[in-house]
Amino acid sequence: MITRAVGLVFGAAATLIGRLRYAQKFFVVGLVLLLPLGFVAAAYVELQRDQVAFSAKERDGVACLAPLAHLASRVAQARHVAVTGDGGSVVLDREISTVDAVNRRLTSILGTGDAWAGARGLIIAAQSATGPASERYEGYNAAMQSILDLIVRVGDASNLTLDPDIDSYYLMDTLQFRLPVVLDNAGRSADLAVLAASAPASARTDALIDLGLTNGVLTATRATVARAVATIMAKTADSGVRLDTGASFRRLDDAMARLTATLAAAVKDRRPGDIPADVSDAVRVAATDFAAQAATSLDRLLRVRIDGFSGRAERVELATGLAALLAAYLFVGFYLSVAWPIRRIMATLHAVAGGDLTRRVAVDTRDELSSVARALNETVARTEAATNRLAQQATHDTLTGLPNRALVLDRLEQALTRSRRDGTLMAVLFIDLDRFKPINDSLGHHTGDEVLIEIAGRLTTISRGGDTVARLAGDEFVVICPDLVVPDTATGTADLIMTDLSRPIMVGTGAAAREVTVGASVGIAFADQTGDQTPEDLVRDADVAMYQAKQRGRGRVVIFNETLRTAVELRLRTQEELRHAITGGQIRPHFQPIVDGVTASVVGFEALARWQHPARGLLGPGDFIELAEETGLIVPLGAEILAQACARTVRWQQHQPGLRVAVNVASAQLADPSFASTVAAVLAETGLEAHALSLEITETTLMADTNAAAETLRAIAALGVRLELDDFGTGYSSMTYLRRFPVQALKIDRSFVAGIGHDREDEAIVEMILNLAQVLDLRVVAEGVETADQLARLRRLGCPLMQGFYFGRPMPAEQIDDFLRAPQPILS
Ligand code: C2E
Ligand code: CA
Ligand code: CA
Repeated sequence: MITRAVGLVFGAAATLIGRLRYAQKFFVVGLVLLLPLGFVAAAYVELQRDQVAFSAKERDGVACLAPLAHLASRVAQARHVAVTGDGGSVVLDREISTVDAVNRRLTSILGTGDAWAGARGLIIAAQSATGPASERYEGYNAAMQSILDLIVRVGDASNLTLDPDIDSYYLMDTLQFRLPVVLDNAGRSADLAVLAASAPASARTDALIDLGLTNGVLTATRATVARAVATIMAKTADSGVRLDTGASFRRLDDAMARLTATLAAAVKDRRPGDIPADVSDAVRVAATDFAAQAATSLDRLLRVRIDGFSGRAERVELATGLAALLAAYLFVGFYLSVAWPIRRIMATLHAVAGGDLTRRVAVDTRDELSSVARALNETVARTEAATNRLAQQATHDTLTGLPNRALVLDRLEQALTRSRRDGTLMAVLFIDLDRFKPINDSLGHHTGDEVLIEIAGRLTTISRGGDTVARLAGDEFVVICPDLVVPDTATGTADLIMTDLSRPIMVGTGAAAREVTVGASVGIAFADQTGDQTPEDLVRDADVAMYQAKQRGRGRVVIFNETLRTAVELRLRTQEELRHAITGGQIRPHFQPIVDGVTASVVGFEALARWQHPARGLLGPGDFIELAEETGLIVPLGAEILAQACARTVRWQQHQPGLRVAVNVASAQLADPSFASTVAAVLAETGLEAHALSLEITETTLMADTNAAAETLRAIAALGVRLELDDFGTGYSSMTYLRRFPVQALKIDRSFVAGIGHDREDEAIVEMILNLAQVLDLRVVAEGVETADQLARLRRLGCPLMQGFYFGRPMPAEQIDDFLRAPQPILS
């Protein structure tokens, strides 16, 4: 509501001011404020100056009036001398020349030139006149009258009659209008007395009347002067004026009191001659003194007044000037306090827009602009932090804070360039943790993260100053070692890493704290000097070497060479070929007979994987089973062998019912949740009875994932399929597995059979396994029977089933028909 009203009223002003730049805004507003102030001040000063000029003119008037009053007094004196006819005369030259001088000085101001010339002429004429006394009296009267007129003119011309102050006004009034009249009439009264005394009786009455009139004028004037003086005394603030005026007045008033009393008595008694000249002269002198004193006092009052006016004008000028200066100063300060911060804020905004996020605004004001600056600084700081975080995230691993793959490749690029330029040796260490996956899987990702962070810390501690430690992915790390003096430095670092990483690691806190142990396999690749090696090449080579270290049994360091590359490339090719071989019918199992220990007649076959490779010929399991297990190809491969083995066995059973088949199963197959259903499906498709099928499983397979394996194995056993423990005796805790899994048969590893006849220990083991099997009611197959001696001894020990080259090598399915048809040995 209020905002709307303000907007309505001031909207136009805001729009107008908004169009201007800040410098212009301040200029316009400053001008609008300062100009009227200047005008008012100037007008006021002008007024004071006018007053000063006005009063100065009054002073000029006073300067004129004083000599004129004196002149009038002397003319009155001269007139009396002329009337009494004593023969003497009063010399007026000095007074005339004084007025001359004043007139010369002031005529342009007061315009008294012509008037004074007239009066001057009359005075000189009166002085040089020679007629009877009455004529000369009239001459002086005329001169006196012209002086009195001149005094009135001067008063008018010099503003004195307009005087604004009461005390000076009455002083002026007294000086200009009253005192000349007094001194004229005082002198005249003596003159009239002389003239009347010598006049004939007829004219005497007229003279007495004149005398009475003069007395009337004097009496009235005396009262007027008394009133004027009383007013002056009451109103003036100047004690000197009061004192002087009082004294002058008392003398004049006393003299006038005596004169008017004398005149009144003379008129009453009709004896004009009784008027003593000194009584009237005393009045004339007192009036003249009073006039001189009044002029001095008036001048002083005017001077004080002028000083007051010009002082006020000066003060206003000074104050206005100072105020204008101060206002201008503050205004410029005001402008700059806005302009500078805005300029700084703009500069910062430009810099920030240009990408410089380290810039901040320094604004030390305490107004809204500093809030703007603070807000801007905060925004920029937050943006900088976010940008840094993003940059860090783009180039660093969030978990360990180590450089990531992108950054390590970048660093490697630089290191490679430097190494080539300087001809120095550099190496890349590729580190992969051993046994990390089981920790991660069984103890959880959180523990896995703790381990990785600890490993990152150890790697950083071990690395040299110029080395770069980075995390590529998962449990893979890379260390770049530039500027090596000898290759041994790199291998030394690698060995150090290997040993250090295999130290136990504390994970968890408090009660959940525990120790875990991982290891590291390290591959090293040295940069070659050919110049066409990319960072990716170098990392890949180190990776290949690391892989080789894993292959060779983990916890070791392998240095990359071309042979390794060939091996890896072969592996990669083989993997690809194997994939096609499984679907392309190149995998065909060979079958090795399993015979009855007593009769030596064939009771079944073990299916053994073979790969009919188009280029490399017939390959055995050693060439591809491990690869198949590592790549997961073992699942389709195993299914393929199972299907072929079952299908073949169903056909052979037509010749020899009850024939069995054994198929090897790898751990990856057991881990596959669909394995049991695959087995069931194969049995259903081929029509083989479940109890005719054995699945051979090694102890290590069982160890890999005990719980999942037990589940799958129980499902298989439920189908009626027999489970056999392969390579029995080579594992660590064979007995445990016999209890935990539904195993129905054991296959004695051929290494023990090979010892029969010359190694008592092997023989003891074989005997013990056979006894154990009897107790547990398990069937036993002795593998690797190659000689008649082995056969004989195993028979003697009561081994129920046997398998080995002695009875038959693994052979293609096509040969089995012939093999079965051939007469089988009957042992005694
Ligand atoms: P195994 O299960 O112990 O298989 C018996 C191996 O011993 C066969 O080697 C066989 O040819 C060989 N052998 C048999 N009698 C004798 C003998 O008297 N003297 C000697 N020296 N050796 C004899 P093969 O076929 O090379 O198989 C090696 C291993 O490959 C097998 O050991 C088995 O663990 C694995 N394997 C074979 N086929 C498959 C398969 O289909 N699936 C899986 N997962 N593994 C298989
Ligand atoms: Ca086997
Ligand atoms: Ca075996």
